[in-house]
Amino acid sequence: MNNNVYPWQRDLLRQLVSARAQLPNALLLQGKDGIGKHRFASVLSQALLCDAPAASGEPCGQCTSCGWFKAGGHPDFRLLAPEAQDEPTEPAAEQGKTSDKKASKYITVAQVRELADFINLTTHRHGMRIILIHPAEAMNAQAANALLKTLEEPPAGTLFILVSHQPQRLLPTVRSRCRKVNAPLPDRKEAMLWLHEQGLTDTASFLAQSGYAPLAALQLSDADHQAKRSQVFGQLAVPRTMDPLVLAEQGEKLGLAWMLQWLQQWVYDLASLGLTGQARYQAEPSPETVRLAKTVNLIELFKFQQELSAAQRTLQHPLNPRLVLEQLLLSYWQTANRQESAHV
Ligand SMILES: [Zn+2]
Repeated sequence: MNNNVYPWQRDLLRQLVSARAQLPNALLLQGKDGIGKHRFASVLSQALLCDAPAASGEPCGQCTSCGWFKAGGHPDFRLLAPEAQDEPTEPAAEQGKTSDKKASKYITVAQVRELADFINLTTHRHGMRIILIHPAEAMNAQAANALLKTLEEPPAGTLFILVSHQPQRLLPTVRSRCRKVNAPLPDRKEAMLWLHEQGLTDTASFLAQSGYAPLAALQLSDADHQAKRSQVFGQLAVPRTMDPLVLAEQGEKLGLAWMLQWLQQWVYDLASLGLTGQARYQAEPSPETVRLAKTVNLIELFKFQQELSAAQRTLQHPLNPRLVLEQLLLSYWQTANRQESAHV
C-alpha cells in the first residue's frame, strides 16, 4: 500500500482532506483509465481516516488507523470490487482471459447487501466510515439499485467513494447522488518527467500510445506487448499483403479487447495523418503508414470506424472473438485495398 498520491494529484488530495468536515456522502471520482484513480481513492480514504494527516493531505502512516489501513483491515473501511479484477490498464472489457472462470467481473448485489451491517454499526474511530467502490461501473443493475437505497439515506459520517472511468455506464440516479470529482491528469511535461523517473527512456512514444495516461504508458512499455503491437501495425500498414483471416487468428490469441483498441488507434492515426500529417498514438509512424494515410479514402475509413465502435460496444457480452475479428479485418482489408487501387 502506497502512502503517496501521484504528483499530479497532490492539489486535489490537499483540497479534499482539508474539507473533510464538509464532504458530501458520496463522491464520484471520474477520469480515464491509467491515470492513477484507484491509488488516489485509496490514499484519500486512508487520509480521511487518519488521526493526524499532514498539511499536504497525506496520511501520517504512523497512527493506529493508518496501521489498520495498511494491513488491509481497517474496521471503518470497505472496498467493493469485482472478484475478478482486470489488470489496471487492460481495456475495460477484456474477455479473452481463461483464468478466474468462476470469479465474477461484476460487483454483485450480495456484495452491496453485505454493506448493510457495516453501515449500521457504530464506527470504531472518528465516526467516519468509508466505502470505496472500484470500478463503480462493475456494479450490475441489481447491485446499483441496492446501493441506491443506501445513497438515498446514508447514515451520518458515511462516505461513498465511487471510482469510474466510464461514468456514463452508471445508473443516472446513482450518478446524480454523487458529487463529481474529475481525476486530475498530468500535463505532457509532468507525465514525461514521471515516466522518466520510473526508468522509461522512450517516454514520448509510450505516452502517445496510452492516450496520455502515464500509468497505462508504463505498462505498455513492456517489450513483449510492444513487439505484438508493432507486428499488428506492420500488417495493417500494407493491406495488399495482409491476410485478414490469418491476422484474425493471431488477434484472437492477443485478445479481442487489445485488438479493438489497437485498431481504433490505427484508424484514428490514419485519418489524422491524412488530414493533418500528425499521428496521435504513434510517435514515429512507419513510411508504409504515411503512404497508406495519403491514399486511403477518409469517408470509407470513417465507415469502418463506426463498425469498430459497434464491435466495442458489444465487448461486454460473450461473443465469438474470432468471428468478430474476421469480420472487422475483412472489412478493413476491403476499405484499405479498394482505396489504394483507386489511386493507382
Ligand atoms: Zn495516520
